[in-house]
Amino acid sequence: MVHNFGYLDIQDLKRKIQIKVANFTEAICRECMQEDPKIVLGDSIWSSLLNNHNEYKKASFLELEERIKHYQQLLKIGESLLCPQISYRNNQEAESIECPVCKSQATIYSDVEWDVDVDHREGTIMGVDIFVFPVLLDCSCGFTLDNYDEIRMVLDDEYDDFCERVRNKTLDI
Ligand SMILES: [Zn+2]
Repeated sequence: MVHNFGYLDIQDLKRKIQIKVANFTEAICRECMQEDPKIVLGDSIWSSLLNNHNEYKKASFLELEERIKHYQQLLKIGESLLCPQISYRNNQEAESIECPVCKSQATIYSDVEWDVDVDHREGTIMGVDIFVFPVLLDCSCGFTLDNYDEIRMVLDDEYDDFCERVRNKTLDI
């Protein structure tokens, strides 16, 4: 496989790098070449990349679950959680969810990106779309997250609904 920085022997790369290469290659194949990465890379290389990628996702999910269980134990015995302090920016949209640790209300702060479609000849706005990225979670029990992938795991099936709620809220202003 050839990227613009030369030849890569994919099988020789470390697992973590392989995961990045998988994401990157998939994006290039699908977005730029409009090809299935399986066809570009060949079946066996692509499936080994994909395998590692899925295993990694599973591992980091377990890791988060374990951490949440550990935090619940700490709360039960009255210890405080030593999660990193997060600070949100004013332009981030706040929305409540149930905290996965203490089950009371936690707040998720999202980055919101506006995509405005303008007809430049007419000078009119044709449409507005909003993209929502939940990036910070903060709860009064001490639980925090500042990793998009982990917040996505916490939201799980509710991810789309959550983003929709934030989108509607933002459009209402
Ligand atoms: Zn909490």
